[in-house]
Amino acid sequence: MAIAYLLGKGSSKGLRTKLNIPILLVLSILPDIDIVYDFLTGSDIHRGPPHSIVVAALAFIPIFVIYRKKAIPYFLALISHPLIGDFFIGGKLQLFWPFSNNIYGFQNISIFSTLNIALELTLFVIATLILYKSGDWKAFFTSNKTNLVLIIPIATVLLPSTIGYPFSKSLLITEPPLALAHLFYLMLFSIAIIKTLTAIYKKRFHPPLSKGSILG
Ligand SMILES: [Zn+2]
Repeated sequence: MAIAYLLGKGSSKGLRTKLNIPILLVLSILPDIDIVYDFLTGSDIHRGPPHSIVVAALAFIPIFVIYRKKAIPYFLALISHPLIGDFFIGGKLQLFWPFSNNIYGFQNISIFSTLNIALELTLFVIATLILYKSGDWKAFFTSNKTNLVLIIPIATVLLPSTIGYPFSKSLLITEPPLALAHLFYLMLFSIAIIKTLTAIYKKRFHPPLSKGSILG
């Protein structure tokens, strides 16, 4: 998510387009939907078709047609997941599925290696500083229906990693520094969802008095 934010932020500045940070962040973790699929079905397609840049490009065709250059930061966020994050850490990606079933990427740096943890934390700190400096953090403290997409990373990544289910152990025990970063995003995303749901609830059940009602 940190890499996607930095890429999305940089490209949207260059293109002078507006950015929806929650949607950008969700796109960056979307390829890992295959973990959920594997978990539910007992299959083993992780780092398969949903990590293919061919699939990503095809899925983005209608989005590029409608939004044109505005779509570029979001596309970069999506492909940064297989092409940067997963490519260097762990590898074994079916990058060109369905044209090729070959797997790509470096396979000698483990997710739990000191190098990866140091890299992840450095990127997290840089992304957080820019999030703060640019005022982009405010997106998480404003009610906006698109914030509800953040339920996806909460349910699929952040809650499982911090409470430890369905993995064997919580990151709080295995990698406390990484757990802190996960807890930070969990808190930020939860605030955005609570803010939005509260606003929707208020609008639905306590609409503001219109002119001509009791106050006349
Ligand atoms: Zn992945």
